[in-house]
Amino acid sequence: MRILLAGAGHAHLGLLRHARRLRTAGVDLSLISPPRFHYSGLATGILSGALAPDAGEIDVARLAADVGVAFHPSEVAAIDREGRQITLEDGTTLPWDALSLNIGSRTADLHALGDAAGVWAVKPLSQLLDLGRWLNAEIALTGRCPALVVAGTGQAGIEVTAALVGLCERSCVTPRVTLVGPPPGGVWAPPAAIRSVVAAIERRGASILDGTVVSRGERRCRLASGQEIGCDALVLATGLVAPRLAGGLDLPVDPAGRLMTLPTLQTTEDARIFATGDCAVGASDPRPCVGVFGVRASPVLAHNLAALAGGRPLRAFRPQTTWLSIMDLGDGTGLALRGHAWWLGRLPLSLKRRLDLGFVARARAAPVAGERPDV
Ligand SMILES: Cc1cc2nc3c(=O)[nH]c(=O)nc-3n(C[C@H](O)[C@H](O)[C@H](O)COP(=O)(O)OP(=O)(O)OC[C@H]3O[C@@H](n4cnc5c(N)ncnc54)[C@H](O)[C@@H]3O)c2cc1C
Repeated sequence: MRILLAGAGHAHLGLLRHARRLRTAGVDLSLISPPRFHYSGLATGILSGALAPDAGEIDVARLAADVGVAFHPSEVAAIDREGRQITLEDGTTLPWDALSLNIGSRTADLHALGDAAGVWAVKPLSQLLDLGRWLNAEIALTGRCPALVVAGTGQAGIEVTAALVGLCERSCVTPRVTLVGPPPGGVWAPPAAIRSVVAAIERRGASILDGTVVSRGERRCRLASGQEIGCDALVLATGLVAPRLAGGLDLPVDPAGRLMTLPTLQTTEDARIFATGDCAVGASDPRPCVGVFGVRASPVLAHNLAALAGGRPLRAFRPQTTWLSIMDLGDGTGLALRGHAWWLGRLPLSLKRRLDLGFVARARAAPVAGERPDV
């Protein structure tokens, strides 16, 4: 059975460790992905300058080679469900018997701001890393922080604002960072935790402005209210939605365009297409876009792809109902969140570093014994 893995997100990175088991089950596995993966848990630490630029980078091409999986360093441009083939960005077509999607998410861009010069989105993460390089170069050139506007007051907007302030603190320049959006709130953290973290970034020099960025002009941004504010760089942290590729499949999706899946990780109306991570959402147990769900789904996905090839029963993935999330606030502190519990301080960040650097080290390491290619 020819199974194509589209995207080297968290679930597929884990699945590579099961390559031999899949081969034994009769699966001919191929992976299509950009050659390098950027791990989101370390992205804001890199942006703030606390970590080296390559701290979260994983060489996917090498990992695939290590386990004998055919690798195509490209992106899937189109999927033909009827004809059971995909087209890559360079025009190559590949046939499949089953397809597994782990292609992450993109930043929602309701006001089509993303294509203008001087606009960076939090996803794909490569843009956030480019923003850090640009900002460091600007500060080195001018000796001051350019006017930075972060659109979106959710978890990513607040974390990125904190990281930008951290970058300024490390460069010994006064931060000029404005976070624009509705008053910070939402279900991602208890209200008291959000108030504490917002107060902390305001104390460090960030400003919060109630509004919506609707357009971008020369060194300015316009808000829905008509107000204009100075803006040399605009960062979009306006929510995560599924890549357009997922929406183009004519399969059921949620309002964010995420493919609806069964507990077996198959899409609800095409048993030959599996989807995991941010591009998917369990129809019976929806969860937000958080990396841990892809990591946890990985062994179930490996089992189910092997079971599909062998004609055996598939297993169910049951995502946890509470999970740990730790924000890096760019100044050596972090905000840990789990259900209704939260903790702001230095210890949460040390724990985050241990977990995230551990993840990257394990993902970079040679595959576990017994999973080396037998060819
Ligand atoms: C600023 C920020 C900080 C975050 N911090 C955390 C955190 O600390 N912890 C946490 O759990 N979550 C965090 N998140 C959320 C996290 O980024 C996502 O939930 C997680 O990355 C989703 O994992 P995934 O495996 O679905 O996809 P991803 O990790 O996004 O991986 C998808 C991969 O697919 C590739 N791809 C995309 N399109 C195609 C295509 N057409 N063909 C082939 N390949 C393709 C991409 O290049 C990418 O390598 C953060 C998000 C942001 C924006």
